[in-house]
Amino acid sequence: MHIEIDDRLCCSSGNCVLKAPVVFDQQEADGVVRVRHPLPPASEYQRVRSAVASCPTSAIRLIE
Ligand code: SF4
Repeated sequence: MHIEIDDRLCCSSGNCVLKAPVVFDQQEADGVVRVRHPLPPASEYQRVRSAVASCPTSAIRLIE
């Protein structure tokens, strides 16, 4: 699994950080998402998929 973000779409809602805090973070200045682990371990896959489902702007893309 590889995670890509379209930061032009991110509205800084923070949903992904709540769902998968190990993988996602937000930039302090503007709250735009930051991916800490673009290639997350398998143990995070379920949380990452939950984060994708919770994103209100479809800013997170998974390449499997
Ligand atoms: S859930 Fe989507 S819109 Fe919200 S911070 Fe994460 S990437 Fe940005």
